[in-house]
Amino acid sequence: MHPKSNIVHLPVYKPGKSTDEVKSEFGLEKIIKLASNENPYGFSNNVKEAVMTEFESTNIYPDGASTKLTEKLSEFYNVSPNQLIIGAGSDEVILMIARAFFVKGDETIMATPTFPQYKHNAEIEGAVCIEVPLKDGTHDLNEMLTRITKNTKIIWLCCPNNPTGTINHHEEVKSFLTKVPSDVLVVFDEAYAEYNEQNEFPDSLSLLKQFKNFIVLRTFSKIYGLASLRIGYGIGHPDVIHTINQVREPFNTTSFAQTAALAAVEDQEFIRECREKNKLGLAYLTDQFKSMGLSYFPAYGNFVMVDVKKQADQVFQGLLQKGIIVRGGHQLGFPTSLRVTIGSQEQNEEFIDALKLVLQEVN
Ligand SMILES: *Cc1c(COP(=O)(O)O)cnc(C)c1O
Repeated sequence: MHPKSNIVHLPVYKPGKSTDEVKSEFGLEKIIKLASNENPYGFSNNVKEAVMTEFESTNIYPDGASTKLTEKLSEFYNVSPNQLIIGAGSDEVILMIARAFFVKGDETIMATPTFPQYKHNAEIEGAVCIEVPLKDGTHDLNEMLTRITKNTKIIWLCCPNNPTGTINHHEEVKSFLTKVPSDVLVVFDEAYAEYNEQNEFPDSLSLLKQFKNFIVLRTFSKIYGLASLRIGYGIGHPDVIHTINQVREPFNTTSFAQTAALAAVEDQEFIRECREKNKLGLAYLTDQFKSMGLSYFPAYGNFVMVDVKKQADQVFQGLLQKGIIVRGGHQLGFPTSLRVTIGSQEQNEEFIDALKLVLQEVN
């Protein structure tokens, strides 16, 4: 058998160690997972009841078009329903975009390091990835512009950038968009949009009105706390959304996920509380890092990339033995850094206590 030549080099996705694996490997009772930017406060109280109402219809296919959720989001954002595409996580929206647009030999531009799914899906479709190094942990938009050719089809921006947590500001993104040819699609991945404190993030919804070649991706996996249900969405021009819908699987999201997401959107008080607690958690962690003499990138989401000035794989392993799972920068292009999710205050304190011990142990 002969798999597509452009996928033979791809690794099978290797998730971080699960809580259960770490428990049994190190004989631990309690694990603190700060590795996947999940919401430490769970999800809205509305969600459980909403999901249970779907249970009786488990034998029936879901509404493939996610009509009710689409309506809800269109009201919430004041956009038209045909500007929305719902996916099994924003990961699936990334996949559908790649599937709908790329043919072999197309070029696509992205930062490095950034969220790996852009490159992964582009390579599966045979596109050539042009990776532009971050500048001070932030997208180098000017350099990205210089890399555009007549073959460029999609540019991926991640804001806040995973794994560094940095953002580009509104004027910068707007000026970038005015310089990108109108037939190049710009994907703006805002998985952490709801952590925007005081309008520091670009006003992506206003940019949507000005630029037809712009699509915003958001998700219910992060602040909304529905990661396991797999649901996310894109907001863009109706023509772009139509194109993506043409490659969408008929029943790509479950009715459980659709109903949960709808209930979750209706509880903005929960989102506000999580954002507030995240802000306090971020302040706590960065104060601690400062007092420990560690530097970090300015963080705008629910995670921080901190330079621990020691080999990240060793620090990662040391923390793991103490039951704390983070992401080691050695796998993310930052060999002496850790990416840590902002947890609850208790989790943050335990992380800092453990980090202090581990940094003494590691040379
Ligand atoms: C977590 C994350 C996603 C994927 O979210 P899902 O909706 O769970 O697929 C997409 N982009 C970025 C930058 C993320 O951090």
